[in-house]
Amino acid sequence: MTGRQRLAILGATGSIGLSTLDVVARHPERFEVVALTGHRRLDILAAQCRRHRPRYAVVGDSADAKRLGEALAGVGTEVLAGVAALEGVAALPEVDTVMAAIVGAAGLSPTLAAVRAGKKVLLANKEALVMAGAVFMAEVSRRGTPLLPIDSEHNAVFQSLPRAFDGNLAACGVRKVLLTASGGPFRATPIEALAEVTPEQACAHPNWVMGRKISVDSATMMNKGLEVIEARWLFNAMPDQIEVVIHPESVIHSLVQYVDGSVLAQLGNPDMRTPIAHALAYPERIDAGVAPLDLFEIGRLNFERPDLRRFPCLSLAFQALRAGGNAPAVLNAANEVAVEAFLEGRLAYPDIAQVIAASLDAVPAAATDTLEAVLAADRAGREAALGMLLARHAS
Ligand code: NAD
Ligand code: MG
Repeated sequence: MTGRQRLAILGATGSIGLSTLDVVARHPERFEVVALTGHRRLDILAAQCRRHRPRYAVVGDSADAKRLGEALAGVGTEVLAGVAALEGVAALPEVDTVMAAIVGAAGLSPTLAAVRAGKKVLLANKEALVMAGAVFMAEVSRRGTPLLPIDSEHNAVFQSLPRAFDGNLAACGVRKVLLTASGGPFRATPIEALAEVTPEQACAHPNWVMGRKISVDSATMMNKGLEVIEARWLFNAMPDQIEVVIHPESVIHSLVQYVDGSVLAQLGNPDMRTPIAHALAYPERIDAGVAPLDLFEIGRLNFERPDLRRFPCLSLAFQALRAGGNAPAVLNAANEVAVEAFLEGRLAYPDIAQVIAASLDAVPAAATDTLEAVLAADRAGREAALGMLLARHAS
């Protein structure tokens, strides 16, 4: 690539977006910000636009666009609104690279627009791949889109695979992909006490600072379940080729086990700026502002097998992966509804898994080889989960 790498950052105001702009700001000679998007937190988006002077900013609706436009008078940023604008900036001819960091199903259509436009796609929005894996990866191979994982586990796996990896794990001598998980804030909480945990406790992750939805997902280990499905698509891995290992220190970000007995891993401090910098500069390496890993300070690393009674969401995700078809999209949709209800105090923590399980049972199996079918599965999962929530309130 000649000249500066021109970026669109979808979800700039979130945790991944902020970390991305932090890395970008360290290398003004390498990166130029062309578009930033944010859904709420307009004050943050306004400050980011003043600092990085993108050509475009995208918000959710025209009222917010008007407000942001007024706040940015004289900055030279054109403010747009809505899903079509998100898709538009993801596919702009003057954009080389798209950071896909919108949370949840809302990220699917703009991320897919970037894939279809053949941009270099840095994928943080795992939900897009969980929902629409088959459609998404078919577009990636049709367009030859460079796809780099931002999720720390998948970025670690990517770094631990041969550079020549082309979607055939066996041909590279890979036996298994081992995804590490911290176990979240409730790894050692007595299971009976989980009925009483609050959103604040669930969002207080021991090692990572993240958005609220993914923080709850980490507590239930649905995050790891979504990541198992993400790994299936990114690395063309069969369910039996993916194993989850609890590693409370979050220093080993994931591992690849080879047939000769070798295990390659990527280690580092738990800081998302590392995978972000890796993907932004790939195949080069740049400073991410992350402190060097101090093994003497860490002293020891621990590993545990996940307890599926404590983490039923992890079983549900494997179940959905094995079922295939619309099951992962239904799982993802029901999880989004259940997590939102939990965050708003409308659902007890253990009921998150119950709502998802009941939704998976309620929605009939269907194929999802078109985007329309994926969106139908997403709607069906949401409706089933909302139905369960209403039934609970009625009883
Ligand atoms: P966040 O909640 O901090 O930020 C989400 C971003 O998406 C914000 O910019 C928000 O404005 C935008 N957004 C939310 N709803 C939207 C909608 N309906 N339309 C358009 N934009 C919308 O989330 P995050 O923690 O930064 O996570 C972003 C994605 O990255 C998620 O898919 C998450 O699973 C993944 N991820 C995050 C981390 C992490 O450390 N935070 C690690 C790995 C993967
Ligand atoms: Mg992760």
